[in-house]
Amino acid sequence: MNIIIPKEPTAELRVPLLPQNVERLVKKGATIIIESGLGAALGISDAEYKKAGASLEKNRRKLLAAGDTILRLRKPEAREVRFLKKGSLHVSYLDPFNEPALLGALAKQKVSAISMEMIPRSTRAQKMDALSSQASLAGYAAVILAADNINKIFPMMMTPAGTLQPSKVFIIGAGVAGLQAIATARRLGARVDAFDTRPIAKNDVLSLGAKFVEVDLGETGQTAQGYAKALTEEQLKKQRETMKQYCAQSDIVITTAQIFGRKAPVIVTTEMIDAMKPGSVVVDLAVETGGNVEGAVLGKIIEKKGVKIIGMANMPARVAMNASQMYANNLTNLVEEFWNKEKKIFELKPDDDIIKGCLITHGGRIVHPNFVPQPKEKKSKKG
Ligand code: NAD
Repeated sequence: MNIIIPKEPTAELRVPLLPQNVERLVKKGATIIIESGLGAALGISDAEYKKAGASLEKNRRKLLAAGDTILRLRKPEAREVRFLKKGSLHVSYLDPFNEPALLGALAKQKVSAISMEMIPRSTRAQKMDALSSQASLAGYAAVILAADNINKIFPMMMTPAGTLQPSKVFIIGAGVAGLQAIATARRLGARVDAFDTRPIAKNDVLSLGAKFVEVDLGETGQTAQGYAKALTEEQLKKQRETMKQYCAQSDIVITTAQIFGRKAPVIVTTEMIDAMKPGSVVVDLAVETGGNVEGAVLGKIIEKKGVKIIGMANMPARVAMNASQMYANNLTNLVEEFWNKEKKIFELKPDDDIIKGCLITHGGRIVHPNFVPQPKEKKSKKG
């Protein structure tokens, strides 16, 4: 039984598995074949993977056809699905909420596909939770990028030439990314305010030395998985009124507010940006899921009335070495959790809680209840 690791597209700076992970899995008895050049984005040579116990394959189609288990980072390209072995297990991000055709193609090819986005948020699955590992690095990277784009320093500085006031940073959304952004901005010496719709986030914010912004939105809450529930339009309007004040007095605003599986809410409007001081910086970490900031452009830094709006994609890849380490460990932990020592395979157990949460296609069908296509309603005859 082969585990194969294809190379990521050239735009991706992260690598799905590092030599140390290969070594860990080979020690368990796994046979690992990597595509030549797998680690190039991080300067890791084929020889290092070979030394760790992997075999190399240059021909991508041959590699894909040889995989009983495929481990990768990004979702597979639709045109490559037909090269995958029937009955193989494919583990990667899948973007399942937005990729119905891809899910259909994987099912048709009889590939069992695990979506790393859907790993449940349980204590047992924490070590496999790629959304969290990557989000925390995105939070760090957002602060560093903001610091690089503002014309001020973060800490207070008392010098004979005068006293410099600390920068004010406002973080909207205090989940995994937001908390890491708070911690990073605090370490750099900024004064930090933060807000989240989940009241439970307040204690986390306070424990990091930031101030929690109170807004009375009525019933908000969270799902069983710890995700925020979507606000009503009325609640969002109320939220924006308070956020406007805080944006106007902040040097840096970082938005991280997401609703799992849905478009991110628009929180920072053009009117709010207009009220900010020229030279301020806004980072929209939700830009890839629709954006929290009106006018943010995916993949660009734009300027509006002197305010920089940063909408860069793939923020974890800015710290690609650590992001790869964490993602590779998430993958390795998942494989180890389901490793059958005798057969030396990743044993898919469809009834296991973790697998139930993240297995999207299996046995030629889409099996995850969230993504099973609904039969189209029959059109009623006119007249
Ligand atoms: P996320 O990326 O879906 O959202 C980011 C944050 O945005 C969340 O904190 C959410 O409450 C917030 N948000 C949504 N709408 C908002 C709005 N209108 N205004 C302000 N904030 C808004 O969530 P996440 O960061 O991946 O996780 C959220 C929480 O899940 C974590 O803080 C944690 O408590 C929990 N979690 C649990 C586990 C586990 O149990 N294994 C793992 C990871 C996270």
